[in-house]
Amino acid sequence: MTPQRFDAILIGGGLVGAAIGFGLQRLGLRCLLLDEGDIAFRASRGNFGLVWVQSKGLGAPHYQRWTRGSAEEWPSLAADLKDRTGIGTGLQQPGGVSLCLSEEEFEARSAYMARLQREAGNFGLDYRMIRGAEARDMLPGLGPKVVGVSWTPYDGHASPLYLLRALHRGFTDLGGTYRPNARLTGSKAAPHDFRIEAGDDVAEAPRVVLTAGLGNAELAPRFGLQASVRPERGQILVTERARNLLPMPTVSLRQTEEGSLLIGDSKEDAGFDVSQKPEIMRRMAQRAVQCFPWIADLNLVRAWSALRVMAPDGLPIYDQSERFPGAFTANCHSGVTLAGTHANRLAPMIAAGALDPALDLFTARRFDVRHAA
Ligand SMILES: Cc1cc2nc3c(=O)[nH]c(=O)nc-3n(C[C@H](O)[C@H](O)[C@H](O)COP(=O)(O)OP(=O)(O)OC[C@H]3O[C@@H](n4cnc5c(N)ncnc54)[C@H](O)[C@@H]3O)c2cc1C
Repeated sequence: MTPQRFDAILIGGGLVGAAIGFGLQRLGLRCLLLDEGDIAFRASRGNFGLVWVQSKGLGAPHYQRWTRGSAEEWPSLAADLKDRTGIGTGLQQPGGVSLCLSEEEFEARSAYMARLQREAGNFGLDYRMIRGAEARDMLPGLGPKVVGVSWTPYDGHASPLYLLRALHRGFTDLGGTYRPNARLTGSKAAPHDFRIEAGDDVAEAPRVVLTAGLGNAELAPRFGLQASVRPERGQILVTERARNLLPMPTVSLRQTEEGSLLIGDSKEDAGFDVSQKPEIMRRMAQRAVQCFPWIADLNLVRAWSALRVMAPDGLPIYDQSERFPGAFTANCHSGVTLAGTHANRLAPMIAAGALDPALDLFTARRFDVRHAA
């Protein structure tokens, strides 16, 4: 079969592949986006939808800057997608809070935020620890058990499913080729010369971008790369729709544009098991009711679990192959938050053929013992 020629092939059509693919296609590259389909683990279809900055990058100020950069890029990405596709992503960035249910939690959070700010240096970090009446004015219906909150102006949320749909529509409207149900079955790599087989498709390109989420761990070595990512399970509960009660998202509660409350934030080491655990769901619901007692009046209508894509240190992995220049890999556990920077900043680097040296800190070689020594 004669291979089809592209400027770039992306393997994995979740939020990371779709955001980078959209960015590349918008720059005029002809791209192929392959996606394995419903049998794969797909974090992009099971996540919480925060565009979240305030907990990111303790001990890694470059990650704090990268995340803040993405929150800044988000409004232009959302506007561009809406313009091109008519699909709104529901982006709201009113700031966000993390709620503390005891003095110990409040003290620990204060110390965490102070350290983040110190590490931010000249870049700065605007935050406040807020207690009592001021917190209650900010968040009507806050429960008496809440001792205080940390607040930053950078946080927000969006609909991850509308985002994914808009990125895919934007990509194909720009002429990109999307192949669902197309698991990579064969590949050949040489510098700036890659050949990919997936089902009936055979394609060649001078660039390949690995965006297969947890699948990257197995794919990366074929292209002279590493992606030592592992799954971390998260469960989410959804209530019936309510009138607009929550003016801003918290790290484990948000109200969608349509009115549902999402309760989230479990972090479980359960391998590839995506079953749901009633005990954990109960704890999540209890904490939500302690934070906002009015939530107890709402019925739960849905629940699910999905797998985060985690590097050993929880930071993203962005890398380019030394052995096969033209091959890139991208993994992160905050693909909603980082969509702005993936489309607007990372895609131009890949189009230009090399990652910015500022991204060296995100290389997977940081896990290599020889590199660390
Ligand atoms: C419970 C939960 C809550 C979360 N909450 C948030 C949040 O609030 N904010 C935030 O920013 N992020 C959040 N995340 C993280 C976010 O969902 C992920 O960072 C993001 O979805 C990762 O996207 P991805 O494209 O890398 O991976 P995926 O969505 O897993 O996509 C990878 C794709 O690659 C395809 N694939 C795999 N192997 C192959 C192959 N061999 N050939 C072809 N295709 C292949 C699969 O079909 C899949 O569609 C959450 C995640 C979870 C699980």
